[in-house]
Amino acid sequence: MTATRIDGKAFAARLRERVGEAALSFAQKAGRKPGLAVVLVGEDPASQVYVRNKGKATLAANMESFEHRLPADTSEADLLALVETLNADPAVDGILVQLPLPSHLDEQSVIASISPDKDVDGFHVINAGRLSVGQSGFVPCTPLGCMMLLTDQLGDLSGLEAVVIGRSNIVGKPMAQLLLDANATVTIAHSRTRDLKSVVSRADVVVAAVGRPEMIGKDWLKPGATVIDVGINRLPPEPGAGKGRLVGDVAFGEASEVAGAITPVPGGVGPMTIAVLLRNTAIAAHRNEGLDPPEGL
Ligand code: NAD
Repeated sequence: MTATRIDGKAFAARLRERVGEAALSFAQKAGRKPGLAVVLVGEDPASQVYVRNKGKATLAANMESFEHRLPADTSEADLLALVETLNADPAVDGILVQLPLPSHLDEQSVIASISPDKDVDGFHVINAGRLSVGQSGFVPCTPLGCMMLLTDQLGDLSGLEAVVIGRSNIVGKPMAQLLLDANATVTIAHSRTRDLKSVVSRADVVVAAVGRPEMIGKDWLKPGATVIDVGINRLPPEPGAGKGRLVGDVAFGEASEVAGAITPVPGGVGPMTIAVLLRNTAIAAHRNEGLDPPEGL
């Protein structure tokens, strides 16, 4: 058997297209474009690439992009003051503070300072709480993107055994919550789980969010399982090559022999994150103006 390859890149492109249309119709009604503010503190090279890509994708989706680049030694008071200004700015619908922050800044305090109604990353405790009790708020982009791919692939998840590997606040925990809301039977596995392989082998749906290259082999999977690989790991470069290959937490080639459907790395979950961020921003804009977001976003 060869698994269906779940094409996150194509799905994300279609979602960005719909978001772009929603942004245009929003602008006609509201007289302004939806706006996303991204704050980057310091010069972490990976974060700079992410912020640049987010800015480009925001403009391509017919939205305003406001980038704020602050020096690495910015004080917490100055960063909090900037967030306050953005909270009060009616042109800004979504605020994203790029993580990780330099170590002298307290990430939780900074996230807590973002207005929950502009917290398009869904990291604020109010939004985590809303997700937990089933109120509408903002859901973190990567797990929501995984959920969209799963629903597209499987339709109804009711009663399925789902195993999420990883329990971070940004991926594992909200992912488990979303699966539970979709009536799956959910297990959250993590670094202290005993006999992880046998836990994973009973799953109809596996979501791997660990950060260990190709940890999950074909003998871990129930035949026909749907596998969502969130992990992004760079292998050491081959001799003479510049950069090592990017791989997920799942050994894609061999897992494809057993799984029913599987996301590749790259081109699976990765492209969904920015697309969902733009979607969340379009929804924030509608809510901020008292408008109903279009169906199907
Ligand atoms: P994290 O380091 O915060 O959490 C990793 C989790 O894995 C922890 O909960 C830990 O308990 C668990 N874990 C560690 N070792 C384990 C082991 N041996 N067995 C079982 N569980 C183990 O990481 P994160 O932020 O949740 O990200 C996880 C992975 O997803 C990383 O590779 C990251 O790069 C990737 N990621 C991708 C996207 C995207 O595609 N856009 C977004 C976020 C994270």
